[in-house]
Amino acid sequence: MSAQVVESSAAAERGGRDLNPLEMAQAQFDEAAAYVRVADNYLARLRVPERVFMTNFPVIMDDGKLRMFTGYRAQHSTARGPAKGGIRYHPQVTMEEVSALAMWMTWKCAVVDIPYGGGKGGVVCNPKELSLGELERLTRRYAAEISPIIGPDRDILAPDVNTTPQIMAWIMDTYSMTQGHAVPGIVTGKPIEIGGSQGRNEATARGVLFTIRRTAERIGLDLEGASVVVQGYGNAGSIAARLLYEDGAKIIAVSDSKGGIYNPHGLDPNAVLRHKRETSTVVGFPGADTITNEELLTLSCDILIPAALEKQLHAGNADKVQAKIIAEAANGPTEPEADHIFFDRGIFVIPDILCNAGGVTVSYFEWVQDLQFFFWDEEQVNQALERVMNRAFDAVMHIAEERHVHNRLAANILAIERVVRAIELRGIYP
Ligand code: NAD
Repeated sequence: MSAQVVESSAAAERGGRDLNPLEMAQAQFDEAAAYVRVADNYLARLRVPERVFMTNFPVIMDDGKLRMFTGYRAQHSTARGPAKGGIRYHPQVTMEEVSALAMWMTWKCAVVDIPYGGGKGGVVCNPKELSLGELERLTRRYAAEISPIIGPDRDILAPDVNTTPQIMAWIMDTYSMTQGHAVPGIVTGKPIEIGGSQGRNEATARGVLFTIRRTAERIGLDLEGASVVVQGYGNAGSIAARLLYEDGAKIIAVSDSKGGIYNPHGLDPNAVLRHKRETSTVVGFPGADTITNEELLTLSCDILIPAALEKQLHAGNADKVQAKIIAEAANGPTEPEADHIFFDRGIFVIPDILCNAGGVTVSYFEWVQDLQFFFWDEEQVNQALERVMNRAFDAVMHIAEERHVHNRLAANILAIERVVRAIELRGIYP
């Protein structure tokens, strides 16, 4: 079967046009841009990334053989400040994906009103097949390759799918070696011992929690006993499950790339995490039924948290989703057609650029601490995070109500207006 036939049958199954992530980000942008009153050329500037750096680089593998890898770093906009965004290690990383993710970072930083633009990077690889030594050599070489375009005042890196605080430490060290002194501000999500921030590891999930609490208040849902389904049990998903459990919610299903588990009476998220650490998957957790990721998304529940990859909710399954709230811990989990279906069905979507912005917000706090060499305690970090998240949530709701638009559109309008204002003030060079 040709690639084109496979692609179009996949699209038909999903009930719509199969957009790549950049096309999806651009479709969302176009929808919001129509509400922003500004000269067209400013909008044209923001529809595409400022810069996408591609590198093919060698790594000596443990067997002594050389293997080539492809990596990217995209910078979507630096109008409001340096580019900021994570690094993803995944076999399906593409230039379109990192470009889309960089664009979403621009909007996310603008929604929470921190002085950054958007960046994102990735390496096409399967880290599960690499030894620790191979992972370190790949990371250091990738960091060296992109070093001409990054810097603590140019483009600051962070963790994303399959990248960890240890990987951030190697990036910090590699960049510091080229400068001749420690440069902790080149990367956030580092271990505390080398300039990381208290609370950063939990920040994305804590931000998700704050936006869910605010939503629950708004729609009159009691979090005590509310049923929660989480797709993806990594940094964002597993910690969100734990924090909601601590708030009294019932975690009824979770999943990872190998499949899902379901227990309508509730799962103990800490025990599930221990099981995942021991067996490398949530599947097989004692006392739970095994379900597929597709089944998981359409379970009856109060809160659905997609916390894995893009494009999980689409025209083909949006009608079957039964949640009251969709809290997008992941970036880009909902395709544009599904957004409209959710809006029409009265499902409250907390859009990614608001819902998961806690990560970049505490990354910003980490960077500020690094630049000042002065560190905050965890309470200070969490309180400042809560203020930022609540302010951003209220600003998005204000636009959603005033303009009668769905929440993602409201968040995008807010973000685009803020970035456009920065471009207007700075003007177009020369
Ligand atoms: P992670 O690598 O820690 O976890 C990802 C999880 O998703 C893993 O459990 C993996 O098994 C699972 N997964 C992968 N493919 C899947 C599939 N097809 N179906 C179900 N599960 C699958 O990554 P993370 O940092 O938790 O990131 C998850 C999402 O959250 C991504 O979209 C990321 O961009 C977003 N995000 C993360 C942060 C952060 O600070 N970590 C911040 C903002 C947004």
